[in-house]
Amino acid sequence: MADGSLPQTGAGMSRRPRNAGGDGPRALGDPITTVPGVGPKRAQDLAKLGITRVGDIVTLWPRRYIDRQHITPIWQLMAGETATVKGRIQDARVVVTARQRSVFRITLDDGTGRLEVTFFHAAWLRRQLVPGLSLLVTGRVEAFSHRLSMVHPEFEVLEEGREPLLGLIPIYPLAGDLRQRFLQELTRQWVPRLVPQMPDPIPMAIRQNERLPDRHWAVKTIHFPPDSKALEEARRRLVFDEFLRIALAVLWLAKPDGAVKGPQLHADNPLVAQFLQVLPFELTAGQKRAWDDIRQDLTGPDPMARLLQGDVGSGKTVLAALTLVTAVGSGWQAALMAPTELLAEQHYLVLRRLLEPLGIPVVLRTGRQAKDASLTELMAGPTPLIVVGTQALVSEGVQFGRLGAVVIDEQHRFGVRQRARLGEKGLMPHMLVMTATPIPRTLALTVYGDLQLSRIEGKPPGRQPVTTVHLPMSQRRQAYQAVRDAVRRGEQAYVVCPLVDDNEEGQGKAAVQLADGMKQVPGWRVGVIHGKMSAEEKSSVMDDFRHHRLDVLVGTTILEVGVDVPNATMMVIEEADRFGLAQLHQLRGRVGRGVKPSTCYLLADPKTEEGSARLQAMVETDDGLTLAERDLELRGPGEILGMRQHGLSGFQLANPLKDLAWLERAREVARQLIEEDSRLARPEHQALRQWVFEALSEALPGQVLH
Ligand code: ADP
Ligand code: MG
Repeated sequence: MADGSLPQTGAGMSRRPRNAGGDGPRALGDPITTVPGVGPKRAQDLAKLGITRVGDIVTLWPRRYIDRQHITPIWQLMAGETATVKGRIQDARVVVTARQRSVFRITLDDGTGRLEVTFFHAAWLRRQLVPGLSLLVTGRVEAFSHRLSMVHPEFEVLEEGREPLLGLIPIYPLAGDLRQRFLQELTRQWVPRLVPQMPDPIPMAIRQNERLPDRHWAVKTIHFPPDSKALEEARRRLVFDEFLRIALAVLWLAKPDGAVKGPQLHADNPLVAQFLQVLPFELTAGQKRAWDDIRQDLTGPDPMARLLQGDVGSGKTVLAALTLVTAVGSGWQAALMAPTELLAEQHYLVLRRLLEPLGIPVVLRTGRQAKDASLTELMAGPTPLIVVGTQALVSEGVQFGRLGAVVIDEQHRFGVRQRARLGEKGLMPHMLVMTATPIPRTLALTVYGDLQLSRIEGKPPGRQPVTTVHLPMSQRRQAYQAVRDAVRRGEQAYVVCPLVDDNEEGQGKAAVQLADGMKQVPGWRVGVIHGKMSAEEKSSVMDDFRHHRLDVLVGTTILEVGVDVPNATMMVIEEADRFGLAQLHQLRGRVGRGVKPSTCYLLADPKTEEGSARLQAMVETDDGLTLAERDLELRGPGEILGMRQHGLSGFQLANPLKDLAWLERAREVARQLIEEDSRLARPEHQALRQWVFEALSEALPGQVLH
């Protein structure tokens, strides 16, 4: 490699600091500190971006690009457009505005006109941007009392006698003290040298078939695209690679054992019929369709592995109950696992109320009961019963004598690993995973491998959409006035207190404080709930709220999942901009569960653009899928859907909600590959195999792969 004769990929190459032939790293796996100019401090910051080895530079994907394809003469600028201007700094000064803010302001002159450029909080630029320098600025043009100006443009100082770098300029994520310019130079220098050392894992035949461009070209182009068409083409290749890798990893794991059977259950047993009779409502059409799917699985020979997706409030719990009852009615045990103890207790109470009249034993097994020896013995025996708990049921390896079905609520992260623990001696219980997170079918099939998918369309009848109102903190009173009116009408309210540094303890204190304030309001019965309370305290408060012995329940994000009190019609979320979009949607799902109209107040003075965009999205729509898409736009791929926790992260460039057509192709290619060469053993598949192993060992550390 570093032989000094580097490919020239554009004007920018020539400005790279000269790096004499033999210097620098030799292999992709060398530590990043072998790169000239990277000392311990920079290495530390680079590590935050996932760059510890030289080869990692290649996959520091740009977050976005500045469009600098054309330079516009100043006289042609129009207010409102985004443009790039090249000019000489005429004048540079720090000025104090009418509002007592100190700003740094320069005037650019390009011979055709003058442009004023302002930077806030950036007096330090004074040393860098001195009169006489040539400067390239890219930003939105504003007209300000007949003068054209730009505020905080992206800029680049041009060295004397050198042509500016045009095209699409990559903007990388930053960390620590890293500067954008440094990262741009790093990739510009190193990507073209490193890429040729990396094999293209996709065999030529497939590449030709799928009309995929060469990976080397794609990697270089994504860093320095000559134009948007090339960028799109390069992104297509790299997105395809991400999808293919994850699809292969999942297929690799999901290699069927064939011999594993599911317990034979009977859906036409009298308990199921009785249950449907005592149910206080008819199943909706959406619920019936989902039940048809589930029932077929339960009564078939193979163990069910089904993902049930239904928006918040769509009525998933009934389907969980039907699954459990089918197992018990067929003489088997069944378990329901919830993400939190609070929710486990709620499910327990709901199920007991519905099922004990039918003579079905329902037991709760969370923290305290875990020590109950007689319960442990009962579960290890053959007695059909329903056990409600958290995932501790699996992680602690609780013994079941005759486990026929497992339902996992709000926990689509439940992964391959845990699933494997449920099975024993050629018998695997039926499994239903329920989630409110909308996952497109193709994506679900890809990341969850062999999970089947059912969706509950629609909501129970008579539901009123929740009106969502965003109020600035200064108008908090208006929200609490509405709560007061609701309480007067005999309805109930939730108040969610602000997130305190993401820590439940701090948030708990905030909740107690907020509740203390509200207890002063005459006529309000106020309760408080947070994660640090004991299980008994929590369930007694929930019980009081459910039976309307409380009017207002102040709580932390513990209220997020599953809490179900139809008479609650008001929700106030304090400092709502601190919460993520998915979290806000879940929280809001606690109201609008009855037939009376509900309102959700979001109190916030958002401090970032993203914060206000989230609130805006909440006000505009109630639809989970739309919100998930919006969330993805705001946060960028990779973070959505708990993919990180799932282990098989790996979406960095792909937008898993929008690039579905490519996902489909990649899945098909993966399927064919595994069909022809199930362990990717052929010589032309070696790079691919290596690549899949890397993905898997990230996801399943310590597991032996073969
Ligand atoms: P989620 O899908 O969010 O878990 P739940 O199962 O908690 O939703 O159901 C929300 C509410 O709707 C509950 O109060 C439940 O009793 C009620 N519900 C569920 N199915 C129906 C139905 N078919 N008709 C009327 N109400 C229903
Ligand atoms: Mg639920």
